[in-house]
Amino acid sequence: MRYSLRNGILWLSIYALLALIPMIIAVVGQNPEYRTFWIEFGVSLGFIGLSMFALQFLYSGRFKSIAPAFGKDNLINFHRQIGITAFFLILAHPITLIIAEPTFISYFDPRVNLMRAIALSFVTIAIILITITSIWRITCKLQYEHWRLLHGLLALAIVFIGVVHAMQVSHYLDPLWKKIAMGAVMSGAMYLVIHTRLVRPWLNKKRPYTIVAVEKEIGDCWTLSLKAEGHHRMKYTPGQFSWITIGPTPFSLQQHPFTFASSARDELIKFTAKTEGDFTSTWENMQPGGCAWLEGPFGSFTPHKDRHIFMIMGGIGITPAIGMLRTMRDDNDPRKAVLVYANNSWDEITFRDEIEELSREINLKVVHVLDEPPEGWNGEEGYITEELLDRYMPEDHNDYMFFICGPEPMMDMAGIALYDLGIKWNHIYMERFQIV
Ligand SMILES: Cc1cc2nc3c(=O)[nH]c(=O)nc-3n(C[C@H](O)[C@H](O)[C@H](O)COP(=O)(O)OP(=O)(O)OC[C@H]3O[C@@H](n4cnc5c(N)ncnc54)[C@H](O)[C@@H]3O)c2cc1C
Repeated sequence: MRYSLRNGILWLSIYALLALIPMIIAVVGQNPEYRTFWIEFGVSLGFIGLSMFALQFLYSGRFKSIAPAFGKDNLINFHRQIGITAFFLILAHPITLIIAEPTFISYFDPRVNLMRAIALSFVTIAIILITITSIWRITCKLQYEHWRLLHGLLALAIVFIGVVHAMQVSHYLDPLWKKIAMGAVMSGAMYLVIHTRLVRPWLNKKRPYTIVAVEKEIGDCWTLSLKAEGHHRMKYTPGQFSWITIGPTPFSLQQHPFTFASSARDELIKFTAKTEGDFTSTWENMQPGGCAWLEGPFGSFTPHKDRHIFMIMGGIGITPAIGMLRTMRDDNDPRKAVLVYANNSWDEITFRDEIEELSREINLKVVHVLDEPPEGWNGEEGYITEELLDRYMPEDHNDYMFFICGPEPMMDMAGIALYDLGIKWNHIYMERFQIV
């Protein structure tokens, strides 16, 4: 996938148009009598906030026709920014209305309408909760799986109550056709969540994988090799990732993203994980014969056929690189590749020996950067810096794609350094393993 300004503008325009659909439904045809500016403004905040919220289901739903156009990191960032914007718009909706016309407070008065007061109070709390738990998930000590479940349920409840509220108020949705149109659009958005969480795992049941090997790697990592059972294994491009569920059924809260570490030509699919928390620490005890389920492939952290590759990787961020290099070897790919690989020490360099082998088999230059080098080390020391990258920057760097994956501070630094070194923004690709 190629990033371009043209694609960005196109997608943003489509987004803006989709976000305006509920407003368009509300204002076409005969309109009710105009109230004050601030009341109409407050109402429009509600419509736009609600549709932005509902649209979150579309691009967080792992749809293959959408995700590759932006890349996972950009989509997650967009999802966060839009979520925060929708939060402010939806909260500003009642606040503006109540300031403009204090009698609107009666919407929250249980004596006037108990169900409506409960629903609107719930939605107010829910929207605050969904925002706080998303921004401060780690500070709140919320396990990722529990957060994801809560996030999905709260989002569904907010959109559902929002639509019912808009229909009950009925001011702009008075003709029946408007209610039907609004209901259809919003039900479509809500179905996307049900599709992602239920329909897709159900379809996946027909495509099981068996664990055929569990191998220890240098650097406290484990590799699982998976074989497709009774179907052709998933086709992927090196650098992409898949969601993995281990166990007898694909319906599980424990679904984690992992990059394909195997060559895209390999019959077996391999994933390598660094032992991190409750899921990855189970890998060393996994047994051949166990069942696995994959959903994917996803991601646009993928090389183009006509460009050389410059990879800046740190620690377990090596997995996309090893997948790309193994594929280049299997394809007898003549392109040039540079791997700048940061690790704490020599004993923690995952795939160390294989990378050395690969550097003899393909046109690969490897630069190890060690924070704590062994005695007598005459390679690069410390962290990856702009000066270091400049030393290994190929003269024909305009013909390269740059891939960055590793610890967050390393990625941020490397991205800025490349930019400062004159690399075009749309030649730099980043993959963050940490979903915050
Ligand atoms: C696109 C992508 C590709 C990745 N590829 C690899 C890889 O090749 N090798 C590797 O070791 N790691 C990879 N990761 C990271 C890996 O998914 C997490 O380390 C793993 O999910 C941690 O789970 P845990 O329960 O063992 O650790 P925990 O300690 O529970 O989680 C550590 C962190 O991992 C993230 N995480 C946890 N659970 C999930 C989940 N279900 N879904 C998404 N993120 C979660 C959260 O940010 C969490 O804070 C990748 C992540 C992404 C986003």
